[in-house]
Amino acid sequence: MTERPLDGRHRTIVRLGDPVLRERAQEVPADRFGTRFLRDLGRDLVRTMFEDNGVGLAAPQIAAPVRVFAYFVPGEGDCDEVPPTVLVNPTLTPLGDPTALGWEGCLSIPGLRGMVARYPSVRVSAFDADGKPLSFQADGFHARVIQHEYDHLDGVVFLDRMKGMDSLMFEEEWERFATDRDLPVEV
Ligand SMILES: [Zn+2]
Repeated sequence: MTERPLDGRHRTIVRLGDPVLRERAQEVPADRFGTRFLRDLGRDLVRTMFEDNGVGLAAPQIAAPVRVFAYFVPGEGDCDEVPPTVLVNPTLTPLGDPTALGWEGCLSIPGLRGMVARYPSVRVSAFDADGKPLSFQADGFHARVIQHEYDHLDGVVFLDRMKGMDSLMFEEEWERFATDRDLPVEV
């Protein structure tokens, strides 16, 4: 299990219905890189993500309408661990076809899970909170978490990405009845 950072402060996660979740978040201007504002935002996202048992959290989910998200990959199953990471102004280039099926949930839509098709891999360009450029390829579960978080920056939630509502389940029923369960994805 990833060590939980103790800095930052816990922020309230907004739920579906709050208009901030349906807006396009704004780019972080270059003059805010390395500022207290951005470092605190990154730390708060990571802390809140861990304390609310998520693997990802986007700034609009704590009512900050900017293009920033945090995530980590626990490194269970066939996934390599990715430590807590904060991406600022990310851009994604999908690789392959959006046909990789997996279960998703969302801290802003508590209690529900649904099957979502995503790209199996994405090429990611972004900045860290200090403005250092980052570029890497994410695959599998790592790619899924990033696509889910990126969608939050455009006002899109996983329900919008479901091909149909027939796989939508409450969490308890999901634990009892869902097949092909892999990692829970609460992001
Ligand atoms: Zn979410």
